[in-house]
Amino acid sequence: MHMLGRMEIVISSVILVIILTLSLRKKFALKRRCPNCGDIHLSKLHRPEWLKSMPVKLYACKSCKQKFYQLFS
Ligand SMILES: [Zn+2]
Repeated sequence: MHMLGRMEIVISSVILVIILTLSLRKKFALKRRCPNCGDIHLSKLHRPEWLKSMPVKLYACKSCKQKFYQLFS
C-alpha cells in the first residue's frame, strides 16, 4: 500500500513535468523563429523592465500571433 502511494506521486509528477514542458515549449525559443508555427517573420516587442538585464528578447509571430521569448540572444 505504501509503495503504491509513492508510485502515484511519481506518476503525477511526471505528468506535471510533461504538461509544463509542452506549455513552455511554445513560449521560449533559442533561434529567431516562431516556436509555434516555425515562421521567421517576427515583430520585436518591448520587454518588461525586469527582463532588460537578461539575455532575452521578446517577439510576436506575424503569422500565428504567438508571443515568445528568445533566450541567449
Ligand atoms: Zn508563429
